[in-house]
This record gives sequence, C-alpha cells and structure tokens, in this order.
Amino acid sequence: MRDKKTLTIVLASVVVLASAVFLLGTKTSKQRRSPNVIFIVVDALRPDHLGCYGYKRPTSPGIDDFAREGVLFENAFASGSQTMMSVPSILTSLYPDTLNILENGASLSDKFMTLPGILAKNGYRTAAFTGPQLRSIGSLSSHFHAYESISPGRGADNGDATQSILSKATSWIQDGSGEPFFLYMHFLRVHSPYCRPPCARDRFWKEEITPEMEDMAKRFHYTKGYDARKNGIKPDARMVDFLVSLYDADINYIDGRIERFFAFLKEAGLTDNTLIVLLSDHGEELNDRGDFFHGKTLYDEQIRVVLVMRFPKALPQGKRVTELVSLVDVMPTVLDILRIEYNTETQGRSILGMVAGLDPLPELESFSELKYGTHKAIRTKRWKLLARDDGRGVPEPVELYDLQDDPGERVNVLEKYPVESQQLVLRLRDHTRECLDLRARLLGRGPEAEAQQVRLTEEDRDILKSLGYIQ
Ligand SMILES: [Zn+2]
Repeated sequence: MRDKKTLTIVLASVVVLASAVFLLGTKTSKQRRSPNVIFIVVDALRPDHLGCYGYKRPTSPGIDDFAREGVLFENAFASGSQTMMSVPSILTSLYPDTLNILENGASLSDKFMTLPGILAKNGYRTAAFTGPQLRSIGSLSSHFHAYESISPGRGADNGDATQSILSKATSWIQDGSGEPFFLYMHFLRVHSPYCRPPCARDRFWKEEITPEMEDMAKRFHYTKGYDARKNGIKPDARMVDFLVSLYDADINYIDGRIERFFAFLKEAGLTDNTLIVLLSDHGEELNDRGDFFHGKTLYDEQIRVVLVMRFPKALPQGKRVTELVSLVDVMPTVLDILRIEYNTETQGRSILGMVAGLDPLPELESFSELKYGTHKAIRTKRWKLLARDDGRGVPEPVELYDLQDDPGERVNVLEKYPVESQQLVLRLRDHTRECLDLRARLLGRGPEAEAQQVRLTEEDRDILKSLGYIQ
C-alpha cells in the first residue's frame, strides 16, 4: 500500500514534471519564434546630419547601411525637445501632458503601461542600459527587469558611458537562454559637450584649434543653462563651423560603435529575428537661432528626430516614409509588428499599414511640449503653431509658420492666416484637454494625478547639472 502510494506519487511527479517540461518546451520554442526588439536611442541626434537624411559629410556610414535595409521616416517628431519629455512618451505612447512629467525629477507613475511592461507580460526579458540623463525620469527602472543608468566614467569612456552601455548590453543578450528580449539602449552621445575623447576632434576639422577656440567651446557647453544668446556669447562663423564639426565627429564616433554592435548581432545570429528601432529623443540647435543645445524651443531643429526601423520579415527595405509621424506612434507600431495585443489607451497609432502602403492614414498632426508646459506646438505637414500657456492652462497662439514656403520657421504669419491659426489652436486646446482627461482616467483623480517628485541624490544632481538640465 505504502509502496503503491509512493509509486503513485512518483508517477504523478513524473507526469507533472513531464508536463512542465512539455509546457516549458512548447513555450520556449514558441518564444524563440517571437522577434527580439532593440531600441537604440542616440540623444540629441539631428536627422539632417546623417548621410541617410541627406547630409553631405560622411558622418554615418554604419547608420546609412542600416537605413538601406529598413524604413526611414523623414518627418518624425518628438513630443518634447528634452529627454525628460520625450523618452517617457516613446515608452508609453502618451504625451507629456498626460504623463504629467514636465519637470526634471517628476516620476513616471507605475500605473502607466509601458512597452517593456507589456512585452514582459508576453514572455519577454527586458533591460535598459542608459547614460546618466535618464536619471531625471524617476521610477523608469521599475518598468524593466534589468536597468542600469551608467554614471560617467573615466578613461576609455571619459564621461559618456558609450562603451559600458554596449558591453553590458551584449553580455545581457548573451546571458539569455533563448527567450525573446527587449533591449533599450540610450547613449549620451551626441549630447554636448560635443566630441569628448575618444571621439576624434580632427575628424572633420582640419585647421588649428587655438586656445581661444577651446575656451569659447567650453563656455558654450558650460554656460549656465547653455543659453549662449541670453548670456551674450556670440560665435563667429568660424567658431560655429568648429562646433558643428565637433558635433559631426561625435556622430561619426557613435556611428562606429553602433556598427560594431550590428556586427555582434550578426555574429550571434540575431539579425534576422530582431526588430531594431534606431531613433533620437529630440534634435539639437546648432546656431540656427544663435544658440546651441536643446530643450529651449520647439522649432523643428529641436523636435525633428531620427527614426529608422529594420525588420525584413515584416517591414520593407530601403523605404522612405514622408508622412508626418510622432514618436508616440512607435510603441503601437512595434506591438502591431509583434502582433501583441494590449489593454491600455495610447495616444499614438500603429503606422505599420501606412509603411506597407496598405493603409494611407489621414492627414496627421504631432504635438510637442516644452519644459514646464508653458510652450506647446502643433505641427501638420503644412503648418506649425506655437502657443504659450495663458496662465490658466489654456494654450494661446503666438507664432504660426507656413512650412511649405518657410521650412526654416522664420516668418511669423499668425496675423496673415487667422482662420488656420484658430483651427490649429482649437485642436491644440482639444489635445490638452484630451491629455488631462486621459490622465484622470488612467491614474484616477487625487494626489497621484499630480506630478510626483523623485528625490534626486547629490550624484544625480551633479550629473544633471553638468548636462544642463537643472540649475
Ligand atoms: Zn535627450
């Protein structure tokens, strides 16, 4: 009896074990077929300084090759001109007003569904390896299985952690046991100060670098708030060329590192079954209006971004999309490509049908916000309206640009086109209301709907200060 019972238990255990192995086996093979997803975010990278976006200098041979194998979006826009506004929008498909994270140090509530969260629920292993600038987005780490914000180091990394991010990411990929993964990498390159070692400063600057030039470059990068114009720093044409050459050299540096990472993926046999999204979180002003840096305006040089997706199994190769898209569209598109259903509201939409040429989307608009939410922009293919908060949270129009005639946004035609201005500002007000309503629905009313401040450590403060994000 006892023996029989033991045998029964043993048999039952074997059956359970066999089922577990069977289920595990089934799950693993199913998961193996699920594509991996990699986001490569290059901070402050302007599309018009890449070869694949038409730049003359050979800054980006690696990214150009990559773009030839994927889909390049010529008119992609960020939801803000600063990391703090843009990255949470990319990972939630919600605008900054909805997320209520318009200030550095505001926390991204766990109640918002994120791309890594949805993928984790679908059997994905998730990780983020980032430069120090994401420290300002409190609680982002809780949305990933593995998360590392890498502090600026010395030596080979010399302050931007590029090598550390790549080596940690490759080790993390190699440590996996076959389950699909989502990897988010965010590089501090090409964020100023431009071209820190080991970036080659003479890559595109062939003349002498005088001590005066060095001094002025430093003043540009370390001026309080990076506000050169406000601080009376006015570079001459030669100085502007020098600074731009450093920015371009930095692109060339990160391009080489990204190319090496692609070679690693190829060697690891991961190229075919991995959806790679290469993007920038915002642009960069390069003296377009007398300043360098970002997070100061919502003109196109600060909000137009790089967006390239490569996944030959589902996406065309060498395609260029001219329709207006927003970075809030990235998450729904990725989930659409992966055929993963999710149960949360998003403010972006999948552009997969449009990419495939099956589903021409109606005329679209993108919205962008600036720090503290006092500046907002609505952009269509033809128009760009900039607005200021009237003090009661209502956007009031201040500038209108006809991008068809004036792509550089130089001539304010607000008075000339009152009907168009009115239509755009009403749409912007609707959007602002939609964001507030959505926030209330997702978070509920009460304290959590208000901005949650994270306590920044002294180290965080020093780093954010050195990047120009806090005073
Ligand atoms: Zn950034």
